[in-house]
Amino acid sequence: MKVTDHINQSDRTLISFEILPPLKGKGIQSLYGHLDPLMEFNPSFINVTYHRSEHNFKKRADGSFEKVVIRKRPGTESICAAIMNKYNVDTVPHLICGGFGIGETEDALINLNYLGIDNVLVLRGDAAKNETSFEPEPDGHKYAIDLLRQVTNLNQGIYLEEDLKNTSKTKFCIGVAGYPEKHFEAPNMESDLKHLKAKVDAGADYIVTQMFFDNAKYFSFVNACREIGITVPIIPGLKPIYTKKQLTILPKTFNIDLPTPLTEAVNGCKNDEDVEKIGEEWLLNQSKELKNAGVPILHYYTLGRPFLVANVVKKLM
Ligand code: FAD
Repeated sequence: MKVTDHINQSDRTLISFEILPPLKGKGIQSLYGHLDPLMEFNPSFINVTYHRSEHNFKKRADGSFEKVVIRKRPGTESICAAIMNKYNVDTVPHLICGGFGIGETEDALINLNYLGIDNVLVLRGDAAKNETSFEPEPDGHKYAIDLLRQVTNLNQGIYLEEDLKNTSKTKFCIGVAGYPEKHFEAPNMESDLKHLKAKVDAGADYIVTQMFFDNAKYFSFVNACREIGITVPIIPGLKPIYTKKQLTILPKTFNIDLPTPLTEAVNGCKNDEDVEKIGEEWLLNQSKELKNAGVPILHYYTLGRPFLVANVVKKLM
C-alpha cells in the first residue's frame, strides 16, 4: 500500500521506522533482531536506506596500488522484500542518483515493481568518500528531481527504450527529502525551498524531513512550505541521542543544530547510559508535541537503538 494511502485512510498520527541494511557479513537475522522489538507498534511502513559503493586503494606486494570497490551495506531491495514477507508490512526502499546510470535505475525500479513494492524515497545521495562534491555517473542523474522524473515516467509506462509497445505502468508513490534547517549546499533557505517545490510539482507525493531536535524548526519549515504552495504531507524524521559523541557527530554529518537545553543536559551526564535516558525523554517530548500538532506520521531513525525508540513509542500510545 502507498504511504499516501496510509495517511489518507487514518485519522490519527501513524508510526514508521527507518533501518539500515546490515553490514556485509552480518546476515539478515541481525536485522530481524533490530526490527522485532519495533513491530508490535504496527508501523505503517519501514524505510530501508541505500548505501553506495566506496573506493579504496589496497597496496599490492610489489608496492603498487589496486583500486577496490567496497559496498558495506548492500541489499536494500531484497531486504525490503524479506521484511514484507516476514512481517507483512509495507516497505519504502531509498533510491539514490549517486553511483547509478539511468539504465541501472530503470532495472532497479522494474525489480521493485516485480517485488510488489509500492513506494520509493528518491534522493540524490551524498558525494562519494573520495570526492569533494557530488558527481553523477556519466549517464546518471545530477539531482533528485531528475531521478524523480524517471520514476514518474515509468508510472506513465514510459521506459528508456522508446520503441517498447504496450508497456505496463508502475504505480510508485514517491517521497522526497526536505530539510527544516536547510540542505548544506543550498545558498539559502529560499533556494532550497524552491527546489523542494520543484520536486513536488514534478510529482513527489510526500516529503520526509531530515532529523531535527527542535520542533520549532519543523513547524516553521512546514509553514514556509505551505506559504509557497507545497500541499503534500510533510513527515517529521526523528532520531534519538544516546551518546555524548553525537553532540559533535550529528551537527557535522547532518548539518543540524542541537538546542542548548539538550546539549547542556547531555554534557551534564556521567556516562552514555545517562545520555540515553536524556535522549529518550527528549524524543518522547518531541513526539508528544508533534502528535498533538496532528502530524501525519512520526518517522523514527532507529539505527543502533531500537529499544530506546520502542520505549518512546510505547509511552506515546
Ligand atoms: P536534491 O533534492 O537533489 O538537492 C541537493 C541540493 O541541490 C540541495 O541543496 C538543493 O537545494 C539543490 N538543488 C536541487 N535541485 C537543484 C537544481 N535543479 N539546480 C540547482 N540546485 C538544486 N543518502 C543516501 O546516500 N542514502 C539514503 O538512503 C539516504 N536517505 C535519506 C533520507 C532522508 C529522509 C534524508 C533527509 C536524507 C537522506 N540521504 C540519504 C541523504 C541525501 O542523499 C543527502 O542529503 C543529499 O546531499 C541530498 O539529497 P536530496 O535528495 O535532498 O537532493
